[in-house]
Amino acid sequence: MTSETDVQNPTTSGDSAPENGAPVHPNFGRITTTGAGDAVLSAALQKVLDGTWADTREFTRDSMTPDMLNPIGLTMEEHRDHVLAQLQRLSDSGMPKLGFREEDGGTGDTGGALTSFEMLGHLDLSLMVKAGVQWGLFGGAIANLGNAETRAKYLPDVMSLDLLGCFAMTEIGGGSDVQNLETTATYDRETGEFVINTPTPSAEKAYIGNAARDGRMAAVFAQLITHEDGEELRHGVHCLLVPIRDEQGNDLPGVSTTDHGHKGGLLGVDNGRIWFSGVRVPREALLDRFGAVDENGTYSSPIESVGARFFTMLGTLIRGRVSVGAASGAAARTALAMAVRYSLVRRQFDHPETGKGIPLLEYREHQRRLMPRVARAFAYACAQNAIIAELDRFEQDPESFDESQRREMETHAAGIKATVTAFANDTITEARLACGGAGYMAENRITELRKDCDVFSTFEGDNVVLTQLVGKELLSAYASDFGDMDQRETVAFALNTAFDVVQEKARASTLWQKMVDAVTDREHTDLLDRGNQLELLVDREEHLLETVARRLRKAQGQDGSAAFKVFNSAQDHLLQAGRAHMDSWVFARFAEAVDACEDPEAKEVLGMLCDLYVLDIVDADKGWFLEHNRLTTERTKAATAARNRLCTKLAGRARTLVDAFAIPEFVFDVPMLTDGGVDTLTDEPADEHEVAGLAD
Ligand SMILES: Cc1cc2nc3c(=O)[nH]c(=O)nc-3n(C[C@H](O)[C@H](O)[C@H](O)COP(=O)(O)OP(=O)(O)OC[C@H]3O[C@@H](n4cnc5c(N)ncnc54)[C@H](O)[C@@H]3O)c2cc1C
Repeated sequence: MTSETDVQNPTTSGDSAPENGAPVHPNFGRITTTGAGDAVLSAALQKVLDGTWADTREFTRDSMTPDMLNPIGLTMEEHRDHVLAQLQRLSDSGMPKLGFREEDGGTGDTGGALTSFEMLGHLDLSLMVKAGVQWGLFGGAIANLGNAETRAKYLPDVMSLDLLGCFAMTEIGGGSDVQNLETTATYDRETGEFVINTPTPSAEKAYIGNAARDGRMAAVFAQLITHEDGEELRHGVHCLLVPIRDEQGNDLPGVSTTDHGHKGGLLGVDNGRIWFSGVRVPREALLDRFGAVDENGTYSSPIESVGARFFTMLGTLIRGRVSVGAASGAAARTALAMAVRYSLVRRQFDHPETGKGIPLLEYREHQRRLMPRVARAFAYACAQNAIIAELDRFEQDPESFDESQRREMETHAAGIKATVTAFANDTITEARLACGGAGYMAENRITELRKDCDVFSTFEGDNVVLTQLVGKELLSAYASDFGDMDQRETVAFALNTAFDVVQEKARASTLWQKMVDAVTDREHTDLLDRGNQLELLVDREEHLLETVARRLRKAQGQDGSAAFKVFNSAQDHLLQAGRAHMDSWVFARFAEAVDACEDPEAKEVLGMLCDLYVLDIVDADKGWFLEHNRLTTERTKAATAARNRLCTKLAGRARTLVDAFAIPEFVFDVPMLTDGGVDTLTDEPADEHEVAGLAD
């Protein structure tokens, strides 16, 4: 193996040290050269991470330029203008067409669209979010819920940005409880129009992207109401297209928008509130795929149950959720790559023998902070690729998915969003800390990533709510009528399910069998054995699920309030089961990617990363494994020691690993990586004791 030292510290001279007698900064010599990793190995690893849409990634990389980076120091209005101009550039490049079907004027490449959205996460999350609102959410609602006529009327302008729009679902009083939102769309048979109203202050649409300034139309989610024989009939949540501003940007009659102004991040996106007061739209404004109203005001739907209809509608909109998870993963990889690069050039304290500064990554603690996160970044990138591929397959041929496969995909889309956005927020913060004071300087970009990524844990489904959804779905895995279940019914249903669900599902996969067959050291249940790792994770998930189902059994026969009490007291348990499921699901996707890798050296390194991913989970949850007699103290101690060893081993390859993220080089053109903010570079070779010497 080539060690990082070989390539990081070329012996050719770079910038020279100050001449004798010149004032020397006390930090001089602690910043070394930035160097590079093992290009051949990183290319082989990149191939695994690039996955099916490698060509799209390459094309997107080539079209990325420094002016697409999050601009620092602009006012809010300037930032909004900047992002809008960049959005127009993306539109002109044809990128949005990827996400729309050919019959609607697109190129029908869902995987390509999601991949290119993801890559914007390396540059400016405001741009990613603005693109997501316009094409993923607003355009996505029209594409997935609208009929052919509506799609033909609006989608070309949505792609070209001649029509900027909002996705107006959230209400200030309702938030995550979307099914009970209050905005109404009441059909007026006399005029053949829907009347849109915000009936109470809590029904005001809030936080809506594009609502403060740029949006001209909104896809508004409202309770649909018709009348029959004087009686009011409520059909649940539907989506209607409602114009909100004229060409000059003035609110239309009956519409009041307000600007949220400065937020905790994403300054380039104009989020605002919308209030509707008797706004009339034609009957055709209803996106009627799952529910239509004829001229006489008669409602019809292919799905009878209000709940099932609602969940089916939401299911068609999961793309936004998938791209939010993917882009936050890209942001995390960017921050990690910066922190790793910095840890190789920044030296702190002198080595007792050589008297030379020690690179940060030489320190065990620094390795423990960064390397498990690098391992997770690989794992999540592979899992994210898998969910994108699944969604792409589904959109190409929806009929090939039965009900349970579709629900499973939706569950994993929710779970991976919660998992990766939480990881991204944790990782960006750790990367910022790992870069010390330099990490806190806006010019070095990590703080900007942190501010912008923060809300990714909240929008497109709050992470707690989504993880709970994963847990509930696991419990009701075999229910065919879950869409109609309320909390109490879910509890009751859980009594009859859960047992063996996880094992059965996992065992159904060929990978499982392959791994279990490959267990070489069953007696000693080696923690580095892939089959044992899978069993360890799946067993934890299964146990959590079985025991939460048992706890929920107490709700049987109880009224709503008592059943809620039981459910609520077990909520942490259910969430734990949801997280455990995502851990094993991600592990399986990562292991599949490792298994499929054809390059022997890359496969070996990926195998180590996969081990580190599992050991990191074991380390974080060792209390559970001990409490439940799954691991002895000797084995958890051994796991910690093995984790440390892997951290050190992989630290010797750190630069190569983050180079495999294939982030455009201009992203790293920041002061802390170019001159450390204190001095010019030296090209002094590292000594053997340094990180790179530990590679093999
Ligand atoms: C910058 C930004 C942009 C947005 N853009 C849009 C947009 O374009 N369109 C749109 O429709 N919406 C948008 N949203 C809204 C976003 O989707 C919501 O903020 C999100 O759904 C959460 O709702 P909430 O803010 O009301 O939080 P709440 O649902 O009130 O949650 C508050 C807290 O309570 C917790 N919580 C909630 N329910 C439960 C439960 N059952 N059990 C335990 N804990 C719970 C949550 O974890 C959270 O910590 C945006 C939000 C932001 C901040």
